[in-house]
Amino acid sequence: MFDINNQSEEIKRILDYVSTDNLFISLYLEVDASKITKQDYLSKLNSMIVEKRSEIEKNSSISNLNRKNLNDIFIKIKNYFNDYYRPEFVKTVLLFAGEDDTWVEIKLPVNIKSKIMIDPKPHTQVLRTLINNTTRYGILEIDREKAQIYLMYLGQIQEGFAAFISEVPSQVKYRREGSDREKQQMGRIEVKLNQFFKIINDKLLSLFREGKIDTLILAGIKDIALQFKNYMSSSIQPKYIGYITSDKPFSPQSLKENASKLIKQVETEYKDNIVKKLLEEYIPTEWGVIGAADSIKYLMLDQIKILIYDTDFETPGYVCEKCGYLTIKEEPSCPYCDGRLIHYSDITDEIIEVALNQGCELVEVRENQYLKDSGSIGAILRFKISA
Ligand SMILES: [Zn+2]
Repeated sequence: MFDINNQSEEIKRILDYVSTDNLFISLYLEVDASKITKQDYLSKLNSMIVEKRSEIEKNSSISNLNRKNLNDIFIKIKNYFNDYYRPEFVKTVLLFAGEDDTWVEIKLPVNIKSKIMIDPKPHTQVLRTLINNTTRYGILEIDREKAQIYLMYLGQIQEGFAAFISEVPSQVKYRREGSDREKQQMGRIEVKLNQFFKIINDKLLSLFREGKIDTLILAGIKDIALQFKNYMSSSIQPKYIGYITSDKPFSPQSLKENASKLIKQVETEYKDNIVKKLLEEYIPTEWGVIGAADSIKYLMLDQIKILIYDTDFETPGYVCEKCGYLTIKEEPSCPYCDGRLIHYSDITDEIIEVALNQGCELVEVRENQYLKDSGSIGAILRFKISA
């Protein structure tokens, strides 16, 4: 999982890092099991390390002590990846390793081309974009006796934020002609239920305010969940995306499965809607482009707000060996720096990486025929296409 949550302190430190004399290795290693074998990514790692070592040897601004430390880190990295077990969902491992003993590993759900960067601080732009791009789903599981709020993030239930016990009796006999005593009792129960709801509502408000969750799913016994839905603050209402129920209490597994199903549905709707808007609104008004050539052109101009692409999208192209300029057309040399253009059989990873570095929102779409028919890639722009 992209377990930002369990590592939030470490990641915050990485993002806020201030440069020092210490050098930092930022390693992206593509380990996607559907694309690459372990043998291949280990040999890629090896050749990148050989290359970096020779650069370090040649660089006179790097001290002997820095060199020795970096070499020690490279050995540690090699040993680590030799023993590394790759979970199914990981496409790229991002590792920050510093001379100050920093060692932070983040499992990314996107393909990023393997590379090593050595700088006085960590390379964080990709991480920042991914954090901004990934929805943190809050799940409130609620019944009369208790309630619990969980975080679901990148397909996993990451943690329970809070648990609540209510003073509301679980079994209440409703009689049509209640005695006064029963009516009083019902009144007290209502008050207790309201108190219970208020505590939960306040906790949710603070979780939203602190950015710990972005949306809310309700789970549990239908009448209580829907009662709470009516109760919750008007500022939470628009964040509510749906409700899951079950005849018996959720097991952790069934909660995850049911929530995943709902999330998938909501995300598919969102993605299909973005494709629809791109084709029906943004393209006609010149706020959008489709196809690899135009998408790459506007990416190079730093004008893409949302990049939308099919899971199976790929395109051959050229990458400037000096500045990273991308194009699908063969050109004599890079129009920006005159560097040599190298042919790649697929430049999708490069496109995604540039988009992440620019802070674009990335929308990966599956099984959308309209997008496939439009070249499998398109973008919503930051500026209207100028004439
Ligand atoms: Zn160039």
